[in-house]
Amino acid sequence: MYAFVRFLEDDMCYALPASNVKDFRPLHKTDFDNQVYLVLRTEENGAGQPGKAQILALADNIDEFEHNIMQKKMKIPKMSTRNMGYSVENHFGEERLPLRHKKAQTQDHGRPTANSSKSLAAVVARLERNAVSSCIEGEDDLEEDRLAELEEGDSGPEKEVVPRVLYEELVHSYRQQEEEVRRLQQELERTRRQLVQQAKKLKEYGSLLTEVKELRDFNRRLQDVLLMRLGSAQQNPEKVKKLVVLTARVHPGESPASFICQGVIDFLVSQHPVAQTLRDHVIFKIVPMLNPDGVYLGNYRCSLMGFDLNRHWQEPSPWAHPTLHAVKQLIVQLSQDPVGLEFYIDVHAHSTMMNGFMYGNVFEEEERVQRQAVFPRLLCHNAPDFSFSNTSFNRDVVKAGTGRRFLGGLLDDTSYCYTLEVSFYSYMAAGSTSPVPYTEDTYMKLGRNVARTFLDYYRHNNFIDDNKLQIPNHINSMEVLSQGRQGNGNGNGRTSGSERGAERKNQSITGEY
Ligand SMILES: [Zn+2]
Repeated sequence: MYAFVRFLEDDMCYALPASNVKDFRPLHKTDFDNQVYLVLRTEENGAGQPGKAQILALADNIDEFEHNIMQKKMKIPKMSTRNMGYSVENHFGEERLPLRHKKAQTQDHGRPTANSSKSLAAVVARLERNAVSSCIEGEDDLEEDRLAELEEGDSGPEKEVVPRVLYEELVHSYRQQEEEVRRLQQELERTRRQLVQQAKKLKEYGSLLTEVKELRDFNRRLQDVLLMRLGSAQQNPEKVKKLVVLTARVHPGESPASFICQGVIDFLVSQHPVAQTLRDHVIFKIVPMLNPDGVYLGNYRCSLMGFDLNRHWQEPSPWAHPTLHAVKQLIVQLSQDPVGLEFYIDVHAHSTMMNGFMYGNVFEEEERVQRQAVFPRLLCHNAPDFSFSNTSFNRDVVKAGTGRRFLGGLLDDTSYCYTLEVSFYSYMAAGSTSPVPYTEDTYMKLGRNVARTFLDYYRHNNFIDDNKLQIPNHINSMEVLSQGRQGNGNGNGRTSGSERGAERKNQSITGEY
């Protein structure tokens, strides 16, 4: 019988004959307990000196220990030396070499001791180096050791016995390192996620910044548009001029108003002799888009903040109706200008009425009422799709906040304020019984006709002297601008059947501008 013991004194494990254990006569391999025995050391580790030791296992021969250790069948209790004041820390210190297990030399064991000692030493050394190499990346000792081990295994039939304590310590250390690696991996993963989040935020900030810059550019362009000024006052400062203000898209959904505006601008900036004459005598200030945020959002009537701007002319707020506030300030300022603001036209589109037509104000003085009707009559003469009979004058309470009503009260009695409406769908030309659908082109044509009507108006009241006109006769006829026109009557309004129908309709609909 052999005993695998651990000496408490120096914490070393040895396999030795059971007879070395004093007063110990086991009948079976389990005949031992946790008590401390007095064990005689072998020649190799103390030459018969007794020492206190624990019995860890019993076996018939040493090979059985090795086999059991390798097969993990041998359960060795955790060192009790910790409780007894012994330290196991030196297992990894300078004195670890003496801890190596050496087989007991026995007379009746026929195997060469030197060989077994050597192989055991190799295994322990390998384990130690493994522990070290696991910390040092790139070392290939492990592979060499594995090969060396194989060679040694071939050279002798014996297997190495791994000291349990060392094995456990190595396993413990390995587990700790494994835990540390896991913790580091978790930490790395957390850091990686944070970095990804930060990168995402940075990207969002980047796109937000771009958006803000775009909005700033957009705003700057809008300001330029708001200040668009047509006319040549600078070139001829001494010349007395008239002032016309045109606005559009206060109702964002009324896109035909933009085409009309486009027609007005295109004509006024062209080289057409009429346009040149007009620029010479009249300053046009045009705000093509009074409600840019509503247009941007695709709203039908409201601004970004949900206001119908055409009901807030009386007291526009600089923060709630900024564009309206700015335009009103401009108009008020212009009204005080010596040049004299004479016309204000706000362009809209109508969803139920046909043709182009106007809304104007009602005044007490008959003479003023008559004067106010002149421009629509002239426009009716010039534009085949403009209906004077659809044109009406009112002072509805609900319209008090509109540009036409408010400015009509603000400007002096030599000024004219209109709402120019154009049908969303079609017009009925004079003498025709079939409606003609509006197109972008015909809307723009109406715009051109509105622009050139100013020449007629200013010739009519002699502001532009007919004799000084540089317009050739064949252009003076204006036919080129209103092709397709079919008889405009005498300018007092057409009264075709369809127009009468439209007129009746007008009585029941208060208008939606
Ligand atoms: Zn409108």
